[in-house]
Parts: sequence; structure tokens; C-alpha cells
Amino acid sequence: MHIAVIGTGYVGLVTGVVLAELGNNVICVDKDPRKVEMLQDGVPPIYEPGVEEMLKRGLKSRHLRISDSIEFAVSQSEVVFIAVGTPPAEDGTPDLTAVRAVATEIGKSIRHYTVVVNKSTVPVGAGDMVEQIILEQGVDRAMFDVVSNPEFLREGSAIHDTLHPDRIVIGAKSREAAVKLVELYASLEAPMIVTDLNSAELIKYGANSFLAMKISFINALSRVCELSGANVADVARGMGTDGRIGRQFLSAGLGWGGSCFPKDVQGMVKTAERLGYDFGLLKEVISINEDQTLHFIRRVEARLGGFQGKKIGLMGLAFKPNTDDIRDAKSLVMIEKIMAKGGKVAAYDPVATENVRELYPNVEYVENVYDLSDSADCLILVTEWNEFKQLDLERLSACMKEPVLFDGRRVYAKDAAERAGFEYYTIGS
Ligand code: NAD
Repeated sequence: MHIAVIGTGYVGLVTGVVLAELGNNVICVDKDPRKVEMLQDGVPPIYEPGVEEMLKRGLKSRHLRISDSIEFAVSQSEVVFIAVGTPPAEDGTPDLTAVRAVATEIGKSIRHYTVVVNKSTVPVGAGDMVEQIILEQGVDRAMFDVVSNPEFLREGSAIHDTLHPDRIVIGAKSREAAVKLVELYASLEAPMIVTDLNSAELIKYGANSFLAMKISFINALSRVCELSGANVADVARGMGTDGRIGRQFLSAGLGWGGSCFPKDVQGMVKTAERLGYDFGLLKEVISINEDQTLHFIRRVEARLGGFQGKKIGLMGLAFKPNTDDIRDAKSLVMIEKIMAKGGKVAAYDPVATENVRELYPNVEYVENVYDLSDSADCLILVTEWNEFKQLDLERLSACMKEPVLFDGRRVYAKDAAERAGFEYYTIGS
């Protein structure tokens, strides 16, 4: 099939390279000239395992082309994906400026029947909005259909998730458009849920809100564990083995962050509000999440007797392992809070350092995790990168002023950390 993908971020680029790998003819478009140039040279502007190889293969086989022109891409394509960002506005409502801008451009460029697929995460009703915008450009109703095809990939395993999705959701008003997408995805052999536009849009918000709720639930329970002397890992294991509950998303930690959960849960609350429902449950999910990080920082502060003049080493900056994405990362809250109270921060991350350096040039960035401990008063494990799981903890503790380790992701066993000389604290036990 001939496909255009507008927006080459985590979702658009991965969608584009995978669809090209499957033998389609794909044109990826971005408005950022730097990204377009890098992609044309075979260099992905984001860090995502496996993308670079697929990008290079796609360019070489000519199944993948990169362009800065929506008009050109739409004129060559039967299916056009919208995969631009939908960040939260000041008040938490999703900002659909980019979706609107792209829909307008698509409307101006349609010359033959085109299926316009919205992959960006949007509030219910946005598909109708896209349809309306295209109609306003003078396009005949018979010349296009709008489909909602929300994306569920996870950064860090985006290629795998795109090739092996748990399900593919297709929301459409027209059977012809739905069938087109069913055909496009047929080779993935994944379960497909074909529904109406509004339901498809709500599936995405519903799924992310539910997962965030699960994490906030176990984090709230971790506080009860801390107060009662129970161990949250055992509690979670005991709960999660119940098939009705499930083990996933029951790891207590610093809370959820990243580019999706914060904005999608907030977006769900705002969407419900607009429609006349007060989604109080999700408001509490958000507030538990925010307090989880602050509670942890308060514990570090209390142990150190304040941050003034202290040096704290942050292990990990990305919002989760295997990505350089720092949107709503817990590391940023920590840097803010520690520095605001007169502390110094040193930090190490395998791939996200440069992104944080742009925001916080005053942090001391080190090249090696062991350099963090050099004269540090405390280490905080923020991101559970695999390379942190196999560290020589004795070597890590050796150079510290005081070997204090706060493990925000429950990576280390308490007795192993203590044997290595650390005074060890974690969440929920
Ligand atoms: P991103 O910010 O990484 O990428 C968006 C891209 O769109 C950027 O490269 C930007 O330059 C480009 N763009 C913006 N306006 C444009 C325009 N007018 N014309 C052409 N290009 C334009 O975003 P992302 O993380 O890929 O997310 C995209 C959407 O997918 C969001 O709605 C997000 O919520 C959703 N989503 C993201 C993830 C994820 O893990 N990142 C997962 C599922 C769904």
C-alpha cells in the first residue's frame, strides 16, 4: 500500500519504518527540517532500539522516503496517518493545534479517495473534528474517510510492540475505510477490534488511565506497607497472581511519568469534565502519583538533615529504561527540589543526559555511573536501567562521603546493598 505518515516522533517514525519493512511504500513527513535532514541521512532523531537499522533498510530499498511536504506525501498515498504530538495545554486539556494544522494541510492536498487515520492520542470527538476540518477545505465527503487507530506502543520496545501488538483498534464510520486498515495490518496476525470512532478514541484514554490507576494503587499501598512494616513486593506478588488482577503494573516505585500517562490521565479527566462527568477517581490517581515522588524526596531530605551543601547522585534520568525521553521524568522533579533547597546534583544516564543538560546546565553530568559516588552524600536510583542491576555495589559505595542509597525502583536486595556497605532505603518496605 502507499502510505504517508505525518510526524516522525516515537510513534510516527516507528510506524513508518515498520510499515516500510512490511513491504509498503511509505513517505514519512515532518515539519522540523533538522529531523527531515537527519532521517534522510539514515539517522533517527530519537533513541529507540532497532529503529536505526530499519530506517536504513527502508531508505536503501526505497520502500521508505522522507519528506517535508504533506502535499507531496498525501498526493502519493491512499492511507495517511496523523502521528503528531498532542501535549497538554496549561489547563491539562490536550492541545490539538498540531492535529488541526495537519488536518488542514491534508484537506488542501487530497486529490483522490484517501483514508485519513488518526494515530495521535486525542480526546473523544477529535475524529469528527478532523473530518470537519477536511470538509472545510472544500473536499467532497465521498473523497475521504477518517479512522481512529490509537497507538499502544511503549517507548523502549516500540518496534516489537508495533510488530506484535496485543490488539489493533480501528474506529471508523465507513466499512470501506475500516477494511482498508484491516488489510494493511493483516500480516501482523493480531486481534483486531473494529468499532466506531468515539469508542476507539476512548479505548486509548481508558487503557492508559486504567494502567496509571494500577500503579497509583500499588504506590498508595506501598505507603501503608511503610507504615505497617509489610513488604510491598510480597503484597504485589500475592495480589498479582490472582488472574483477575494480573501481575503487570503492580511494581511500587517513584510513580508514572513520560509523555503519555500524565497527559492522557489529565486528558481523560478534562474530557469527562467537558462532557459533564466529574472523574474524581482519576483526580486521586494523579494526586497519589505526584505525592509519591515528593514523599520519597522528603525521606531523602530527612535522612540527610536537609539538602543545603549536600551532593546527591542521580542514577538515571530518562522517565523509564531504554529511552532518552525525559518528558515528565521523575529525575526532573528531583533536580528541581534538591537544587531549590541548596543541594548539588550529579547525574548519570546511558542515553538521556543531553536532553536534561539542555534544561539543567548546572547539574554535574558524569560519563560513568561509578563517578557519581565521588564525594556524594547520597545516591538515588531513579531509572531502573539494566546496567544498574549488575553494578559492583562495593565499588559504588567506596568513594562516598556517606554510603546512603535510596532505591526509587526497588532494584536492589536490601541485604546485598547492606553487605556492600550501603545504608539502604527503598519504597514500600
Ligand atoms: P513526538 O513529539 O515525539 O513527535 C511528534 C512529531 O510530529 C515531531 O517530530 C514534530 O516535529 C512533528 N510535527 C508536529 N507538527 C507537525 C506538522 N504540522 N507537520 C508535520 N510534522 C509535525 O510525539 P510522539 O511521542 O511520537 O507522540 C505522537 C502521538 O502519539 C501523541 O498524541 C502521543 O500521545 C501518542 N502516543 C505516543 C506514545 C509514545 O510512547 N510516545 C505511545 C502511544 C501514543
